Amino acid sequence: MIRKLLRRVFGKADPARVEGKCRIIPFEAHGVSRDGISHAARRVAEGLHAAGYKAFVVGGAVRDMLLGRHPKDFDMATNATPEEVRRVFRRSRIIGRRFRLVHVMFGEEVVETSTFRRLIEAEDAQTDEHGRLLRDNEFGDQEQDAARRDFAANALYYDPVSQEIYDYHDGYADIRANTLRMIGDPEVRYREDPVRMLRAVRLSAKLGMKLDAATAAPIAAMKELLGNVPQARLLDEMLKLLMSGHAEECVKKLRAMELHHGLLPMLDVILEQPQGEKFVMLALQNTDQRIGEEKSVTPAFLFAALLWHEVLAAWKAHQDAGERPVAALHAAMDEVLERQRAQLAIPRRYDAIMKEMWLLQPRFEQRGGQRPLRLLSQPRFRAAYDFLLLRCESGEVDGEIGLWWDEFQDASDERRAAMLLPDEAAPKNRRRRKKPDAKPQPEAVAQMVLPIE
Ligand code: ATP
Ligand code: MG
Repeated sequence: MIRKLLRRVFGKADPARVEGKCRIIPFEAHGVSRDGISHAARRVAEGLHAAGYKAFVVGGAVRDMLLGRHPKDFDMATNATPEEVRRVFRRSRIIGRRFRLVHVMFGEEVVETSTFRRLIEAEDAQTDEHGRLLRDNEFGDQEQDAARRDFAANALYYDPVSQEIYDYHDGYADIRANTLRMIGDPEVRYREDPVRMLRAVRLSAKLGMKLDAATAAPIAAMKELLGNVPQARLLDEMLKLLMSGHAEECVKKLRAMELHHGLLPMLDVILEQPQGEKFVMLALQNTDQRIGEEKSVTPAFLFAALLWHEVLAAWKAHQDAGERPVAALHAAMDEVLERQRAQLAIPRRYDAIMKEMWLLQPRFEQRGGQRPLRLLSQPRFRAAYDFLLLRCESGEVDGEIGLWWDEFQDASDERRAAMLLPDEAAPKNRRRRKKPDAKPQPEAVAQMVLPIE
């Protein structure tokens, strides 16, 4: 009778099977078919099953499939040790020294396969003086593996053979409620790994999921802990955030939670000035749009944009001190990059591209003689031009310059000759062109000759 009533109130009976602390949700309830996972991930699961091991797709991929999104990649978790996995698949190799994982290769695809791990108990754990965990690479069982993960929605295990989902922390209910909730005591979990605060912001922005109140609450008081995280790790997370396709939303959220102070020193200053803020936001929107269209994007373009207003300020200071413009720009670039490195080190491999992009900017103002043609033939012209359009759109430079280059680059030789400004040395006397109504849209980094990263 009561059961009948409950069924009427709550809909169908709970279809999950319960085994210990785990709820096992059948395909009929969640609807995620094994056809949605990659061929290679399926082969890894089948191979491990056939050899008598457990194997699951885990983490972001299960979450994304349940949300109806296409996963970036399919990571596997198993109870087989790395050596055992290695023995099952001829084309595989063990990687990593601290966290030993196996890369299993099928054709072009690589499936990262990790052995279940457990969180090391407090008394044996190695932590820094703030409680940050220095290692968590002990092997464990599936239940322990679920407990060491960050959000319940990230701790679901999908078995491609049975098509069942294993859920230890009610992550399935969270996904249905569109909520990110930290497993365990959020304060303890942020102390163990402060990067989880950034992951909370990034994943909620990227997935459009709300942060559970108890998960969000401690962040304001704990944000200083990010200062103890190694630089390389912060940069890694920052890159993920900027290249997530939702960078604008992420940065807005970081600001709302005041996580950008100190952590993202490059944003600290820039976002406080209206023109700098507008420029950064346009650059982020532009990157998000390109990622959405699956066009190539390089972090160097974005870093160049994020630092541009600092470069401008330093450039002006050097010129005010009597340096000639080009020398002053070189000095400003070095100064800004040095300052940035002391806070959050941008890899040096991006320096050359950022500098090129910046150095080409003043050359857009020179529109007489052979100079525009020389600028057009620069390999980085397109990227620098996209950068210029963002400057125009943000109001930093006269939109007329952007329009001039928009026309000049595709114009016939005859038209180009007519467009060149007669007196380069006295730009104040130049003939002004009538502004058309439409503004050129930044086509962005379309033809950038840069690698996709
Ligand atoms: P994305 O879609 O951006 O890849 P993701 O959740 O898959 O998101 P990954 O960095 O690929 O993120 O991590 C894979 C899984 O590893 C996560 O889903 C989570 O279960 C676990 N994980 C990652 N980082 C942490 C962390 N800092 N603390 C605890 N668990 C983590
Ligand atoms: Mg992932």
